[in-house]
Amino acid sequence: MSHFINVILPIPLQKEFTYKITAAEADYLQRGMRVAVEFGKSKVYTALVYKIHENAPEGYEAKDIHQILDEKPIVTETQLKHWEWIASYYMCSLGDVFRAALPSAFLLESETEILLVPEFLEEDSLSDDEFLIVEALQHQARLSIHQIMAILGKKNVFPTIKKMLGKKAISIKEQIYEQYKPKLIKYIQLAEVWNSDEKLTELLTLVNRAKKQREAVLTFFQLKSTKKPIKVSDLQEAANTSASVLKSLVDKGIFEYYFIQKDRVEFAGETSEMKELSEHQQVAYKSIKESFETKQTVLLKGITSSGKTEIYVKFINEVLESGKQVLYLLPEIALTTQLIERLQYYFGANLSVFHSKYSMNERVEVWNNVLNNKGKAQLIIGARSSLFLPFSNLGLIIVDEEHETSFKQFDPAPRYHARDAAIVLSNIHKAKTLLGSATPSIESFTNAQQGKYGYVELNRRFGNVLLPEIELVDIKEKYRKKRMNGHFSDRLLEMIQDALNEKEQVILFQNRRGFAPVVECQTCGVSPQCPQCDVSLTFHSYKKELRCHYCGYRQAMPHNCGACGSNELNTKGFGTEQIELELQELFPNYKIGRMDLDTTRGKYGYQKIIGQFQAQEIDILVGTQMLSKGLDFANVSLVGILNADNMLNFPDFRAHERSYQLMVQVSGRAGRAQKRGKVAIQTFNPYHQILQQVSTSNYNEMYKEQMEERWQYHYPPYYRLIKITLRHKDFNRVEEGANWFGKSLTNIFKDNVLGPTTPAISKIRNYYIRHIIVKIPQKQSLVHTKSNIIRIKNAFQSVNQFRSIRLNIDVDNY
Ligand code: ADP
Ligand code: ZN
Ligand code: ZN
Repeated sequence: MSHFINVILPIPLQKEFTYKITAAEADYLQRGMRVAVEFGKSKVYTALVYKIHENAPEGYEAKDIHQILDEKPIVTETQLKHWEWIASYYMCSLGDVFRAALPSAFLLESETEILLVPEFLEEDSLSDDEFLIVEALQHQARLSIHQIMAILGKKNVFPTIKKMLGKKAISIKEQIYEQYKPKLIKYIQLAEVWNSDEKLTELLTLVNRAKKQREAVLTFFQLKSTKKPIKVSDLQEAANTSASVLKSLVDKGIFEYYFIQKDRVEFAGETSEMKELSEHQQVAYKSIKESFETKQTVLLKGITSSGKTEIYVKFINEVLESGKQVLYLLPEIALTTQLIERLQYYFGANLSVFHSKYSMNERVEVWNNVLNNKGKAQLIIGARSSLFLPFSNLGLIIVDEEHETSFKQFDPAPRYHARDAAIVLSNIHKAKTLLGSATPSIESFTNAQQGKYGYVELNRRFGNVLLPEIELVDIKEKYRKKRMNGHFSDRLLEMIQDALNEKEQVILFQNRRGFAPVVECQTCGVSPQCPQCDVSLTFHSYKKELRCHYCGYRQAMPHNCGACGSNELNTKGFGTEQIELELQELFPNYKIGRMDLDTTRGKYGYQKIIGQFQAQEIDILVGTQMLSKGLDFANVSLVGILNADNMLNFPDFRAHERSYQLMVQVSGRAGRAQKRGKVAIQTFNPYHQILQQVSTSNYNEMYKEQMEERWQYHYPPYYRLIKITLRHKDFNRVEEGANWFGKSLTNIFKDNVLGPTTPAISKIRNYYIRHIIVKIPQKQSLVHTKSNIIRIKNAFQSVNQFRSIRLNIDVDNY
């Protein structure tokens, strides 16, 4: 009998691929283990065992596997079930999910290695360099390209290797290696022979004449009395000695080095008592609990600073005590040290953070800790990808700020929505999901209204502080009356000064980073464009350069207009950087800070700015929407929104919903502690219905109005959307392809197909883009719709001239 496995490869294959295994391997292998296999032209991949069976594949000869990489499964059955749902719902391959789910260190890379061809005898034909390599290969079976560079003492070794391949002296092997290296800490101990008290005197006489060595030995015994392993670095410090002194003691056979593997991310285990819930929090807590008796998912709508986190904490605690794991999902930008520290305070040693800013190695550690159900991985806080961790016994998922659009991954596949995928995951584990937000998404609120989710409201801020007082400032009027100073109205400046006089802090929100979005020629009106994308370049004054925010292209700020040569280039619009500069002139005696993508790069970027603001080293903080999430500053009494209109005018059916959410969330940063805060919103259009709704915190009215629009224009939640994107470097090719695809869709779905359309930004990185949207009414079968789309996609890809068009499908497009 022959044995086979079907594997998932980390590439977008529509089907599983089959490999041959031996009977012994069939015995050993289990679903969820990794194997190294060859696929395509001698490329080696890490694949995941998906099925073990006895049926030879049809249409091709199954190859052998190279190597088994695990001793036990690293992916669980529940995960596989969840992956299957994601692949089918979001119309992608299991390989896409596999690649997204595992830390990249688990997806081994192939690295070229050189082997000696055993039959090779004609050593006389070799040059000096070639001879050196052959000689080295006689001592060591394989050499990497790097090692060969070292042996030959030069970088340019490819010609030599190529010649030797031609002479059939060597061959190339595609070799797999593990990238993950646990961090090792170097410890020191007494060599076995000296390890008794009687030997101590003998030992001291031995080092009697070497003063420094004697010191080190004595200090070692002092440290040893604490009965803890002794780090080399600790001993060095305590004895005030050098590494070389310790090394000579090791060389003498007195000490030995040893290593202990240490997790990279470790929190001190100090925990503290939980806060007592206020009366209103208590009521909300009880209703959530009651709701969970009949519903799997509950939506908590609690205004900003109502203390939602403290309620989550109570639930987390209960679930942990029952011996189950908890996942706390947050949008990336809300994953701040502030919140993490708060949770550490309660759950210290039981908590791990899974964050894209953590290194590959740190992520592998969290994965392994979750897989092995380690104590420190009982509560995981993370952004959307932490959904893919190998939980064995999940009891609760919290999705905080559930309305955040960054929960949806839009590129690459799987284009999943973490909130929705979390609810499914929670179902598989028979666990509960708690969604929380001050401004729920229209989708979730609808599900709550319809009774699909339980629903609980918390309408009071903790400590009964009132929601901030919101003032709309009409800047059209202010410009007319010449009451503007740069981008600031006299009213906003007055409010800032008042706050500063009271020694309070101010947050100013501006949606765009950079100095000025567009540079425009005064003479001919042309703006410099990105050569690769269909967008104007953004001016960054700090480096005096123009940048593309889509592809990263940058160039120095030109002195003359590229079109007419005029030297009157002006900036139009404004970003965070310009606001910061204006503020420095307006308030020279105060410290201004800026928080946006440009100032928060690197792992500790946010932390530093937030820390400074919290320590009140910064008086006014200017920032993008990064400012709106998960931050709790006691001393902020004023929030200013510099321009509400650019959000409202964004061409997207969710623009109004999002503007509402963003403005309410940003406003929520004001007056959190004792005093009622203030918010000033500058706008050209103070009568806009969304601004009215923001200023009165009228979520229900916003919801009602938006629902009417969604109904009228056939948008979610009444209709589901599937967006198909086509991209190609050749304008005509993508045009033809999109028309073909659009027509085929229209044949089936009639009026419910929108497009093909050219998006507002029609070219990115030299690829022309077309969109087609399929709208799916509630009563139409989603499964049928998807299989029809897949059929059309397959037909499309079998047309020769369309094959090179990049195509992707986005379900529940955001
Ligand atoms: P939300 O997440 O709803 O915006 P938070 O959970 O951040 O609100 O709470 C706002 C502030 O009130 C925080 O500083 C928090 O420490 C404090 N707070 C909330 N609930 C309590 C409580 N029960 N006891 C003491 N302080 C609380
Ligand atoms: Zn570009
Ligand atoms: Zn010009």
